[in-house]
Amino acid sequence: MILFDRIDLLQAHLQQAQTQQSIGFVPTMGALHEGHLALVKQSMKQNTITVCSIFVNQLQFNQAEDFTKYPRTLDQDITLLEKIGCHCLFIPTHSTVFPENYPLKTFDLGNVEHILEGFYRQGHFQGVCQVVKRLLDIVRPTNLYLGMKDFQQCIVIDKMMQLEGFNQFIKVHFCDTVRNEDGLALSSRNKRLSPQAISKALGLINNLKHAKSTILNNPTLVKLDSLQQASINSLINNGFESVDYFTFMNEQFEPIHSITDSFKQIIILAAATIEGVRLIDNIIIKSNEFK
Ligand code: AMP
Repeated sequence: MILFDRIDLLQAHLQQAQTQQSIGFVPTMGALHEGHLALVKQSMKQNTITVCSIFVNQLQFNQAEDFTKYPRTLDQDITLLEKIGCHCLFIPTHSTVFPENYPLKTFDLGNVEHILEGFYRQGHFQGVCQVVKRLLDIVRPTNLYLGMKDFQQCIVIDKMMQLEGFNQFIKVHFCDTVRNEDGLALSSRNKRLSPQAISKALGLINNLKHAKSTILNNPTLVKLDSLQQASINSLINNGFESVDYFTFMNEQFEPIHSITDSFKQIIILAAATIEGVRLIDNIIIKSNEFK
């Protein structure tokens, strides 16, 4: 694997390859786990060159403490990426990505910017878009790989790519969430949890699964508002300190309060805090899963 911390050297390397070959790109904030590696592996299957980036983007943290506490495990990350044969790792500094006078933009993301994650993390999605736009401008990949664990982030980045015209030459791939053997979504933040909290954190996916099966068992009669309240209570009773949301959205990413025949897909999303660590997860119900 070749490591780059300079834009010009990375671009010179990619330019040699760009003419005939495809470039897959996996942006990350490091503290890599099998979820990140699954994206890199998918990229490696579908492209001649795969670039992974590790950059803890200060602009997307709305709490300074969360940024400083974010796990940084670069040596281990390099070993993991080398082991699976990733071609290039881009590890820029803050001033490389955002030099002084870098023209930060305001992206017109619409309502999706302000709900759920956007509501609880003000400015988060503008920060995400700043860095992803910048990295796409630098890497100019053929394919971009994102994880559906951050479902709203996928929608936001897709929107930013349309606004900026990236969608004309970059294909985005939304990849399934990788989980541990019990079902807990892998997350760099899990590293901050005690073993007890890790097992209690399973309540998140278990409640999402329970909500999904409750809907599928009786879609016409299910009361989503009661199901929401019961799920929040269950999370609190099972050790979560707080629940920011447990909510049902349609394929246009609008909140829904009842089930109708016309849904293509329902996404149930949740965010809750345990041991001071905020976790998110989601589950999808496809229309063909309704009997
Ligand atoms: P992060 O380093 O948290 O910014 O994540 C980098 C990329 O990895 C994002 O596209 C995430 O959605 C994705 N990702 C994080 N956790 C998982 C997971 N458990 N399974 C699949 N993708 C993931």
